[in-house]
Amino acid sequence: MSSATTHPPARTSCPGCDSLALGESLLLAQQPVILNYRFETAEAAKHVARRDMELRECNDCGLVFNAILDAAAIPYDDRYENRQNFSASFIAMLSETANTLSERYNLAGGAVLEVGCGKGDFLTLLCDRANAQGFGYDTSYEEGGSEANERVTFFQRYVTPADVTQKIDLVICRHVVEHVPDIGDFFRLLHAIATAGGGSAVYVETPALEWIVEHNAFWDVFYEHCNYFPTRTLRKLAEQAGFTVLQHRFIFGGQYQALELRPGEIDPAVTALHSQNGPVLRMFAESFVSSCSQVIARLEEAGAAQGWAIWGAGAKGVSLANALLTFPPTFVIDSNPSKQGMFLPGTGIPVIAPDDPKVARAPVILVANPNYISEIRATLAKQGFSPLLMPL
Ligand SMILES: [Zn+2]
Repeated sequence: MSSATTHPPARTSCPGCDSLALGESLLLAQQPVILNYRFETAEAAKHVARRDMELRECNDCGLVFNAILDAAAIPYDDRYENRQNFSASFIAMLSETANTLSERYNLAGGAVLEVGCGKGDFLTLLCDRANAQGFGYDTSYEEGGSEANERVTFFQRYVTPADVTQKIDLVICRHVVEHVPDIGDFFRLLHAIATAGGGSAVYVETPALEWIVEHNAFWDVFYEHCNYFPTRTLRKLAEQAGFTVLQHRFIFGGQYQALELRPGEIDPAVTALHSQNGPVLRMFAESFVSSCSQVIARLEEAGAAQGWAIWGAGAKGVSLANALLTFPPTFVIDSNPSKQGMFLPGTGIPVIAPDDPKVARAPVILVANPNYISEIRATLAKQGFSPLLMPL
């Protein structure tokens, strides 16, 4: 990968609602373009491609987006690895979501299509649970990535409405909309897929911008995510594409929002979008730099100068390591075996397993996701480690 600093001309209209009324901006210089990527050497990891990021906020629909995204710079191939299902808390959440969807949409004996299925783990879980047939589409799908299963068929490419030739009960789209540059068009594509499926219900899951702003979660802003949705924005973009909203709720301790939809008639009243809440980007921008130095100060106070680690080599952990580069962690711990022995994009910091004896060299461990603290404590106690776990 090159380290070119070029970017396309800045967008002058909102990719969600086409409005020209763009407000605040926040420049984040030279961000690694990919965090969920496996690098086999520290050198390759350090030389990950970088691009500037310019967040803009739409004054009409409230979408916060990267106005200078170079989408071609992000390699969503089979070395892209964003599975989080090596954690019991995460599996519990997936399992609950699968049960809820299976019951609410009577998926037993039915069919489910997933747009952006990753390695296919959630689709497989849901189809097993519901005894349903599954179709998963993702360019980062890896042959043999999910357990062989006669119920589920995977395609390593994007899906189009023409692919839908049978009745589909539910279309799933989890953690995809935050990656899609032309997001207004993407909701219209989802609508066309659901219509081709005979009026399928649609489940969309994505981070909630409210949580990021409320927690000053600077590590949750990174290049792979070109869109940040306040809840009202996600709902409005879906309605604008012709969906009727069935349910909209927070999940996973408020970090994510889950939106359930059904294709309906386009209501002309919602084409004129007006925000109800005030803009949020300015608040976030003001706290960005100070939050970063506060984390470093807390680490130093806790004795991290003797060695410290981040728990989790997912996007949050990698983003943190990059943001805290003036006081870098000794290593990152992750329970995903395919990340162990690899190096973090941007910093080249090594990833080790929770039962690696080197864990003892980090008396302080920073945990980005508070949902995992008790699980991590239990895992480390089993290995005889009792470091100070510092939640963010
Ligand atoms: Zn907009």
